[in-house]
Amino acid sequence: MLPFKLVYHEDYDLHLGAHVFPSQKFRLIAEALLAEHVAAKEDFLRPEPASDSDILRVHTPDWVHKLKTGTLTRSEEMKLEVPYSPELVEAFWLAAGGSIAAAQAALRDGFGCNLGGGFHHAYPGHGEGFCAIHDVAVAIRRLQHDGTIRKAMVVDTDVHQGNGTSAIFADDDSVFTLSIHQLNNYPAYKPPSNLDLNMEDGVEDEEYLSSLLPAVRRALDTFAPEIVFYVGGADPYYDDQLGGLGLSLQGLKARDKGVFEEARQRRIPVATSLAGGYARKIEDTVRIHVNTVCAAREVACGNVPSSLT
Ligand SMILES: [Zn+2]
Repeated sequence: MLPFKLVYHEDYDLHLGAHVFPSQKFRLIAEALLAEHVAAKEDFLRPEPASDSDILRVHTPDWVHKLKTGTLTRSEEMKLEVPYSPELVEAFWLAAGGSIAAAQAALRDGFGCNLGGGFHHAYPGHGEGFCAIHDVAVAIRRLQHDGTIRKAMVVDTDVHQGNGTSAIFADDDSVFTLSIHQLNNYPAYKPPSNLDLNMEDGVEDEEYLSSLLPAVRRALDTFAPEIVFYVGGADPYYDDQLGGLGLSLQGLKARDKGVFEEARQRRIPVATSLAGGYARKIEDTVRIHVNTVCAAREVACGNVPSSLT
């Protein structure tokens, strides 16, 4: 058994077929965690969809109405880059519920892992880049609303800048946003995060980690959040179809583990979500996300092999 919960629902799958977004990855990750005995069935929590009032703390009534009634304009659907369906809307509400559940579990157990979510390109009034609802922002607002936290930090390691996150929290001193991403990649316009670490094309493990980890350390010490939301994109991987960085599988796990250790040393709970991953081989994307859970387990259990530090 794991010392923390994994949040998963079979309806996370968006059933997109041959789309570049491999939405079957959610199921494959859950299956791999069980098959490899990283997790047992009782480690899983099944989330409820977020309530509309949870969603409306972040998103505009107009956008929520369009999603719920299937009345997106053609250009809104094109910007979203995934075909509209009622199941898609259900999946986004579930992912948001999943990030809420993972955050609540993290406050209790130190870690909580949503095996979905990380839809960091969603803005309050529109969706883009496969993201319709910003699950992490919804979870932050819910915890703040409940009074369980005041200050949160988002550490976003997806290869694409977290534009929705930085836009949503632009004028909000209670949320510190940190994004490490490839500079020459989507989104073209990157609203400033509190800290943007812009990586040049092809950056590899060592350069990436030596930029990320000291920055995380400083940000945690200065801002002292009560929870970290870790958006663990698999797409900085060297063989990713939508990314142009050069990280290895080992480098990606060291990234996850490095961030988790810094939080752990300061007794700050961490809620993780998946974000993107478009490796040429889907098993690589699955491996990277499974390794995020393994990294959390190693840190939670205090097992820190020096080769990974
Ligand atoms: Zn991405």
